[in-house]
Amino acid sequence: MKTNFKGQHYKTGKPIDIRVNGGMIVEVKESLAAEGEFHLAPGLVDLQVNGFKGIDFNSGLLTADEVCELTCFLWEAGVTTYFPTLITNSDEGIAEAIEAIVAACKADERVNASIGGIHLEGPFLSAEDGPRGAHPLKHIKAPDWELFRSWQKLAEGRIQLMTMAPEWPEAEGFIKKCTASGVLVSIGHTAASPLQIQTAIGAGATMSTHLGNATHLSLPRHDNYIWEQLASDKLWASIIADGFHLPKAMLEIFVKVKEGRCILVSDCTKFAGLAPGSYDSHIGGQIELNKEGRLFMKEEPKMLAGSAQSLAWCVDHLTNSGILPLSEALDMASVKPMEWLGANKTLGLTKGASADFIVFERRANTIEIVRTVKSGAVVYQG
Ligand SMILES: [Zn+2]
Repeated sequence: MKTNFKGQHYKTGKPIDIRVNGGMIVEVKESLAAEGEFHLAPGLVDLQVNGFKGIDFNSGLLTADEVCELTCFLWEAGVTTYFPTLITNSDEGIAEAIEAIVAACKADERVNASIGGIHLEGPFLSAEDGPRGAHPLKHIKAPDWELFRSWQKLAEGRIQLMTMAPEWPEAEGFIKKCTASGVLVSIGHTAASPLQIQTAIGAGATMSTHLGNATHLSLPRHDNYIWEQLASDKLWASIIADGFHLPKAMLEIFVKVKEGRCILVSDCTKFAGLAPGSYDSHIGGQIELNKEGRLFMKEEPKMLAGSAQSLAWCVDHLTNSGILPLSEALDMASVKPMEWLGANKTLGLTKGASADFIVFERRANTIEIVRTVKSGAVVYQG
């Protein structure tokens, strides 16, 4: 088993040698030469994955084998920890997807280690067009603690992240119960008033889910839920920096205002990793993935149909647009989400950290994953 990895440190650019043992980084030392043009960076951490390469967590037909297969696809893309994201569905549909994920975790230790937790994005969201996004209206409902508990029991405690709209009258009590039980609450798909945002923060919400997306087309210029979330130092923000979901100016502003508390998510769908072309979508209608990487409704080309890009693509986009240096964009896709999750331990390419990292080349301004290491084991070799 390979226990030494050489490459240029993603921050300093200096050649380093990382030694791993027992799933941990036991030594990081400067070496005389890097291995080729290889770079070393922490493994990518994606809090929002709906699917990848043809497999959809929300298809209604998810199997444990598919969860394992999808995890392998993510390793290829440099992701060492991710949150399968279950969107609004029938109560049974959510329960069945949870069961498939739990079965995959029990069947494969590496899959279990790679799934940081389940992200439940719905069904406790806004019913309004715009904030609701593509979540099916018929399954949107008020926060229901007993229902949540039934899912958490099935998940054996794996639901770690809940995206919800805080304007429901039941929301404050629900958020308090979530946070008391160790579940992180993020505000998203919301039409909340500034006061309701503040109440959610007071109850324990600590993040905004894909800030700036799933909103009304027009908002009051002064009192609105985006300003309110941007202004709060208690809220981190996740953003979809794929180049299609948010314009450059918004990305620049979010990154500046939320400095140190900004997280990249891919929010990728099953169309990520597929070739450009036309596809059928279970949310209805034909969708098109063009060669630039934009995924949209064929009938209404202005409407995005989700993201078809990986987290590494988002890192590249932030870097190539001149918004952030590569090392900072990489941090937002690796150590920052871990920090937000409360991983109370050493992070990054440091002695004592979990040996989760990527070896990559940078060709034509693109991260090309050469090797992915999870808990000290090579799980992808290009
Ligand atoms: Zn969403």
